[in-house]
Amino acid sequence: MINIAIDGPAAAGKSTIAKKVAARLGYKYLDTGAMYRAITLYLHEHKETDLNELSELIDIEFSQEGKLFLNDRDVTDMIRESHITKQVSSVAALKEVRVFLVDLQRKISSKKGYVLDGRDIGSVVLPDAELKIFMTATPEVRAQRRLIEEHARGNNIELSVLIDEITERDTNDMTREISPLVQAEDAVLISTDALTIDEVTSKIVEFANE
Ligand code: C5P
Repeated sequence: MINIAIDGPAAAGKSTIAKKVAARLGYKYLDTGAMYRAITLYLHEHKETDLNELSELIDIEFSQEGKLFLNDRDVTDMIRESHITKQVSSVAALKEVRVFLVDLQRKISSKKGYVLDGRDIGSVVLPDAELKIFMTATPEVRAQRRLIEEHARGNNIELSVLIDEITERDTNDMTREISPLVQAEDAVLISTDALTIDEVTSKIVEFANE
């Protein structure tokens, strides 16, 4: 078994595809963005937190069904709320937060057989990952996909608002000082604009089986 790193900008389809790749290969899926969102929620609720104590204060667990528990509380839906999405890239720029989560992500995936998606998996978390994918799509295509998800959740948000949100988050993620979003040198670039979810999934499964 190997580890597969899938990085790329917001809403490029990483998590949908990472889950499918994991299912096809019998691997586990680790949503590292959800972990940054969980910390963002914690810091939103506990404004006086000493960032050097994150490892004592925070327990993050994923259930078998993919639900996320923050200190034993199911926060799966809360971490997707728009106020968390707006704050997450500033929290993800904090050194203490990254040190804590990178360490946790390395521990979880140390047994191999993981598909991890995020921004810095191939470049920082697992620079030795056997397969690295960098997944992109134009901001318009990504916003359009996010729009469908938001409407399914009952949020009647406009496309232009989502394009702005995605573009701002990408800029923050690409320009932060620590572990900015970059394509690792040895990552395979996949642009998902003209591909279906199944086509992208099959491509990655083929690379993994090579
Ligand atoms: O993947 P998702 O959109 O849920 O990620 C939310 C945010 O978490 C990203 O915009 C980024 O700021 C941060 N993140 C990160 N490194 C990762 C995964 C996510 O900085 N490996």
